[in-house]
Amino acid sequence: MDLTDFGAGAQYIAGRWSRGIGAPFQVVNPADGSVVEEVALASTGQVDEAVAAARAALPEWAGATPGARSEALTRLAGVLTGAAADLARVETAQTGKPVKLSTEFDVPGTIDNTAFFAGAARNLEGRAAGEYSGDHTSYVRREAIGVVGSVSPWNYPLQMAAWKILPAVAAGNTVVLKPAELTPLTSLMFARACTLAGIPDGVVNVVTGDGRTAGEHLVSHPDVAMVSFTGSTAVGRRVAELATATVKRTHLELGGKAPFVVFDDADLDAAVHGAVAASLINGGQDCTAATRAYVQRPLYDAFVAGVAELYAAIRLGDPLDPRTDLGPLVSFTHRDRVAGFVERARGYATVVTGGGSPGKGHDGTDLTRGAYYRPTLITGAAQDSEVVQGEIFGPVLAVLPFDSDDEGLRLANDTPYGLAASAWTGNVHRSLRATREIAAGCVWVNDHIPIISEMPHGGYKSSGYGKDMSQYSLDEYTQVKHVMFDTTAVARKDWHRTVFGDR
Ligand code: NAD
Repeated sequence: MDLTDFGAGAQYIAGRWSRGIGAPFQVVNPADGSVVEEVALASTGQVDEAVAAARAALPEWAGATPGARSEALTRLAGVLTGAAADLARVETAQTGKPVKLSTEFDVPGTIDNTAFFAGAARNLEGRAAGEYSGDHTSYVRREAIGVVGSVSPWNYPLQMAAWKILPAVAAGNTVVLKPAELTPLTSLMFARACTLAGIPDGVVNVVTGDGRTAGEHLVSHPDVAMVSFTGSTAVGRRVAELATATVKRTHLELGGKAPFVVFDDADLDAAVHGAVAASLINGGQDCTAATRAYVQRPLYDAFVAGVAELYAAIRLGDPLDPRTDLGPLVSFTHRDRVAGFVERARGYATVVTGGGSPGKGHDGTDLTRGAYYRPTLITGAAQDSEVVQGEIFGPVLAVLPFDSDDEGLRLANDTPYGLAASAWTGNVHRSLRATREIAAGCVWVNDHIPIISEMPHGGYKSSGYGKDMSQYSLDEYTQVKHVMFDTTAVARKDWHRTVFGDR
């Protein structure tokens, strides 16, 4: 099934492609600067059109049985499976991520999520109906909220689209998604797949456009009942502000600066390999990537040496080459931003390895036309320095030593973010303490990165609130109604005297 027939344009509204009437925009392959697709962004009028389509589709979709929605999502998983190779190829072309990651993580993860929400659609939860007051029967209804306006980032465009769309539609809502302008293509393919799976027109709409125009228009739209946003903390604040004006429910998945805490009894080899994988996944453009490793003093030197050795052996190259470990970053602008962090760090810390763009790839190919950046290891940075506190979102890891367990855990918590963290130790008491005391939405023990459809993903502190994936996410896309029936058939009820008259 071909989902790449973008045809007349880059908007997917009411089950059809339509051409954007906003500014022209080129989706660029960061591996070589070539144009993947010329699109035209949505005008604010087209955002209105998409919201109107979602609104029109709402009564039928919200009224469909959970079983019917579940079947539609099961068919969607089938369509996505049939298009898996295309999805991986397009995801790699628009982001630069290695095709082994898009093939083995992004696409199967999305299909698994779809299958999960097909099941979850039939499992809406609430308290048991009952006579809680003695004179009444109460029950709860878990209802769709309405039109959900979703805004997603560029790092995992397909998975982010899926994380936003699936729980919303499983619960009976309809959606207008605005993907990041840099990477709209697989979100559009996902919307097309929904139509091919028989999901009614208007249930899933995608408008491509920039944040200031299409994004702001969508999140402040009076007919949008809920806003679900994944992106940076700064933009999340603005989105929350705009949504507040019309008291929309908000769901904010924001930035991260994940600590990676290695205690002195940890398996050093596991910690070193874990740190390399967790810091370089998706070129470090992952909100949960390991960014700050705190290593207890006895293991510190060996850890730094081990990571530096593996970093030096990372294969940079064409992301379509299945042997490539690290492709380019998402754009030249972003690569320059990452480089800026590292250049400034040279003034106050040591760049042990990396720092800069490679001239050639692992197989000798010229990489100078791409947005590449070498894996970069930094030591000697102070806890309050920019590389330790700021979200770099690139293949850069800072390593700091600590002495006592108290100190390690304090440093791990010492940023405004709280999305994810890991603790490395063979001691059950240490690991239990770390999982209890680290303020983050996910704490791994002796691993860092794996996610799973059944378990929630979402932040603490400035990393936002709300959960993606899992039953928790489904619950967030519903509103709970209490229904109360009188069981007495008594006209003059006893409680009336608290308002008027006597017993
Ligand atoms: P970003 O905040 O720049 O943009 C995210 C989205 O918001 C894009 O679609 C953008 O067009 C839109 N946008 C920008 N300004 C807007 C505005 N004023 N109003 C409405 N929408 C607007 O983020 P990014 O650079 O695309 O992605 C990287 C960020 O996303 C990082 O901070 C990363 O940590 C975060 N992220 C978080 C999670 C999570 O689950 N917590 C997952 C992935 C990425």
